[in-house]
Amino acid sequence: MSEPLDIVILGGGTAGWMAASAFVSLIPPSRCRVRLVESEEIGIVGVGEATFPEIKKFNDAIGIDEAEMMRACKAAFKLGIEFVDWGFKGSRYIHPFGVHGPANMAHIFHHLWVRARQLGSSSDIEEYSFAAQAARHGRFELPDTHRQTVDSAYTYAYHFDAGLYSAYLRGLAERRGVSRTEGKVQRVKQDSETGDIRSLVLESGETISGDFFIDCSGFRSLLLGETLGAGWEDWSKWLVCDRALAVASERDELSPYTRSTAMEAGWRWRIPLQHRTGNGYVFSSRFIDEDEAADSLLRSIETKALGEPRLLKFDSGRRVVNWKKNCVAVGLASGFLEPLESTSIYLIQIAVMQLIPLLPGKSVDPRLRDEFNRLMDLQYERIRDFLILHYKLTSRDDAEIWRYCAAMDVPESLTRKIELFRHSGIIERYREGLFTPISWLSVFTGQGLIPESYSPLADSAQEEQLIAQMDEFRRDIRDRAEEMLPHDRFIDRYCGAQSVAAADTQS
Ligand SMILES: Cc1cc2nc3c(=O)[nH]c(=O)nc-3n(C[C@H](O)[C@H](O)[C@H](O)COP(=O)(O)OP(=O)(O)OC[C@H]3O[C@@H](n4cnc5c(N)ncnc54)[C@H](O)[C@@H]3O)c2cc1C
Repeated sequence: MSEPLDIVILGGGTAGWMAASAFVSLIPPSRCRVRLVESEEIGIVGVGEATFPEIKKFNDAIGIDEAEMMRACKAAFKLGIEFVDWGFKGSRYIHPFGVHGPANMAHIFHHLWVRARQLGSSSDIEEYSFAAQAARHGRFELPDTHRQTVDSAYTYAYHFDAGLYSAYLRGLAERRGVSRTEGKVQRVKQDSETGDIRSLVLESGETISGDFFIDCSGFRSLLLGETLGAGWEDWSKWLVCDRALAVASERDELSPYTRSTAMEAGWRWRIPLQHRTGNGYVFSSRFIDEDEAADSLLRSIETKALGEPRLLKFDSGRRVVNWKKNCVAVGLASGFLEPLESTSIYLIQIAVMQLIPLLPGKSVDPRLRDEFNRLMDLQYERIRDFLILHYKLTSRDDAEIWRYCAAMDVPESLTRKIELFRHSGIIERYREGLFTPISWLSVFTGQGLIPESYSPLADSAQEEQLIAQMDEFRRDIRDRAEEMLPHDRFIDRYCGAQSVAAADTQS
């Protein structure tokens, strides 16, 4: 067998340590050695507290104990995202992590709902989603996915402290054999013929050589962007927000969902953790200045701020390719789509998991590179379209940003999806990438797009029977949601950081 591949990861934020822990956990040492370089002085972005349900698959795949991770990261559960004031002022809906209607009817349920509406029903689609109802009632229990009952058809994600999650992964990766070097990269050496990266030269003079480089250096994209010159594809005409102010506040009600409230020049997040609440205002500098945005954020948070808001600047878009020569960018170094649907950590996970089977030998086979780039293109574009949908589908006209977004031209791929749904209730399906029809359905309907017609299959039930069955299902969901444990009580039992700390002090 040939020598193991020497992988060098530049960066120790969420991206760097997710990549390192996955490589070391999933690839045998005979196939690769992993070294990570990071600079404490530069630090990490440190925001990124809301996740998508896929993260559980990542954690499970690398053998993370859920309760232990949640305790260490002061994490809470997330059943979806509540969108407030998006479609119009005063509106609210939940994008839930679970189906609408009975699990075995998920493909047809919303057509039945459209028919029921046409027959006079005024029920909201989220009343038929167990995840949404549990979220509304502030309840949580782990789903029993082996059962086919109303209360088992959902998944969940986490809210966690992003800095603690990176630290947790670092501990795990180092214990499993990743070697870490502290230091600032000053220079990158390339092969004079091929242009491949050969080594990173640190300020200390130390040189770190490798066969394959993972650029997790954050927004700067030191290897893929700066060194190898991968171009930038700008999506800011559709995703106009380019700044965020983030501030933590004292712990508040531990609701099991993220809240996103549309504001005068963007939107505000609220993310409850075990020890504090994360808040932030994502805004467009075209429509508001930083001081005004900071005042607006501080006025709107519900508990006492724990410090001053921190400003982050970004552009929405991505590197034209994520793999060039012997370097793959992961995380912010590969691109950024604003955090409206908590997709950045998902993009890290999917990049790492798609890269592992495509990892090359000592030299890069272009077929592997092209396949990776193709898969990442799809991932980015699907998420891009879904995010733009939230801005496009608004009837708000009370602020310049909303008037701009409602009128803007959107990518053809999104126009097609909107028009298909508007006409017939059909949601375009695809195999690769986020999001499932459940997600599209909740944003379409939540922001006021109700299909003009529905599938002929929905006409097979008798009218009275349809209404009666839907009412019964709605009641079952609500009753079962009310029976579950309050989210904070479940956290205390399962993974409470405070109760463990208290037990430690007592013993
Ligand atoms: C406002 C905002 C909100 C967000 N919210 C969410 C969210 O809710 N959910 C979500 O999934 N994502 C969110 N994200 C994205 C998330 O924060 C990032 O995807 C995640 O933190 C990964 O960052 P990273 O590891 O790529 O980069 P960073 O955290 O910036 O890490 C970069 C690393 O590179 C190192 N480095 C850089 N240059 C050098 C050098 N010259 N020498 C040595 N080391 C170097 C640094 O030391 C650091 O270790 C948000 C992002 C922003 C901006």
